[in-house]
Amino acid sequence: MSELLSTALVTGGSRGIGKAVAETLARAGHQVYLTYVSKPVEAETVVEGIRAAGGKAAAFQLDVGDSEAVADFFHTEIRDKVALDVLVNNAGITKDGLMLRMKDADFDQVVQINLRGAFLCLREAAKIMTKQRRGRIVNITSVVGQMGNAGQVNYSAAKAGLIGLTKSAAKELAARSITVNAVAPGFVETDMTAGLSDEVRKAYAEAIPLRRLGTAQDIAEAVAFLASPGASYITGQILGVNGGMYC
Ligand code: NAP
Repeated sequence: MSELLSTALVTGGSRGIGKAVAETLARAGHQVYLTYVSKPVEAETVVEGIRAAGGKAAAFQLDVGDSEAVADFFHTEIRDKVALDVLVNNAGITKDGLMLRMKDADFDQVVQINLRGAFLCLREAAKIMTKQRRGRIVNITSVVGQMGNAGQVNYSAAKAGLIGLTKSAAKELAARSITVNAVAPGFVETDMTAGLSDEVRKAYAEAIPLRRLGTAQDIAEAVAFLASPGASYITGQILGVNGGMYC
């Protein structure tokens, strides 16, 4: 296995936090495989940027909510082809709305992508990392999975579920020197939060002790630390990167 290239897989690496994570892990020396679901041009632009900076990267279309597609991707592109040293479960969506009016489909889809998608990728990665007897898994949860948020019962339930998944998987995989941690961002400036009005954005910033929304790079630095050699004794932890809004 040692001759295979050390690779970090970042789901949802075409934009926002996943893009910053992919670029940061590439700078740390990993070959980066990033996935996207609907935006190939954005994904290829990230890949080209990493290559232009001297790194190695490739983009793959993968809907993390599709269990057959996830299994097929790991079988075709990862298993026996690269050393999968890092998995970052970053792909996520929101479908916000007040609970009393929330449609079943909007609840199910958010859980399907944010929670079940992370489970599917984690399970496939664990099969490979268990054989390697090493690996780092970082799940991107959210501050709203810790503190709740009106209008996001689906998303906060999925992100809270991801915290339980992280802690349980950490216990199952520790004996094989695989760490499983989560990063819990606060409110971060990406497409996901681009729809917030200036008024809401200002109210959020005022409620954050560090007085600003986070950047994608703020989150990427925490992920890169958990994937680094210095974090080898950290597992089952939830690292809040939220400007102090929840501690
Ligand atoms: P974003 O800018 O909306 O990007 C979402 C990424 O996920 C894109 O790369 C998208 O791919 C991908 N994606 C969406 N559905 C997918 C699916 N079914 N299968 C595979 N990939 C899929 O989001 P972001 O703000 O960077 O958020 C990244 C992660 O951080 C998410 O898990 C989110 O819940 C979490 N988070 C964000 C914030 C925040 O304030 N932004 C706060 C806390 C946690 P395409 O480009 O192809 O659509």
